[in-house]
Amino acid sequence: MTYSIVLYGEPVLEKKAEAIKEFDTPELHQLIDDMFESCYAAKGVGLAAPQIGIPKRIAVIDLSVAEDPQQKIVLINPEIIHKEGTQAGEEGCLSLPGFREQVRRPKRVTVRAQNLKGETFELTGEDLLARAFNHEIDHLNGRLYITHVSALKRDLIRRKVRKLAKAGEWGG
Ligand code: ZN
Repeated sequence: MTYSIVLYGEPVLEKKAEAIKEFDTPELHQLIDDMFESCYAAKGVGLAAPQIGIPKRIAVIDLSVAEDPQQKIVLINPEIIHKEGTQAGEEGCLSLPGFREQVRRPKRVTVRAQNLKGETFELTGEDLLARAFNHEIDHLNGRLYITHVSALKRDLIRRKVRKLAKAGEWGG
C-alpha cells in the first residue's frame, strides 16, 4: 500500500526512531515494499520510516526512482561509520514539499546496516548517494535537513510552513 508522507510539524519526524530487532518477518517485508511504493509515488529518491509515521530505524533509497532495481537499497538500523570530504548542493525532503536549500554534506560516506534477514553489511556512497545516506539516517535520529541550514533560513521555512498550515495548505 502507499502511505501518505508525514509532513514537517509532526512530532514523529523529530524523534529518534527505534531499532528493529525482529528480521525476515512477513510484516517487515511488507513494510519495506510499502516504503518503496510510497517513495516512488511521491517521486522521491529515499524515504525513512518516520516519514510514513512509523518510528523505526528503516530507510529505503533508490536514486533511479524505480528505473533500475539494482539501485534499490534497504538500510535497517543503519549507522555512519566513516565520512570524508565535503560537498555542497541543493537538498529537498518529501516531508518539506516545495522547499530546497543548499546543504553541506560529506562527499563520501560508509554506512553499516542490516538487511531484511538481519545480516550486517557495509556500503560506501559518494556524491548523491552519500547525501542520501546522510539525509535518511538523519531522519532516523529525528533530524531534518533544515537543521543543517542557518537559523535565519530555518526560521523563514518555519514561518512559511506555519502560514501554509494556517491556510490549510500543509498536509491533511
Ligand atoms: Zn527527507
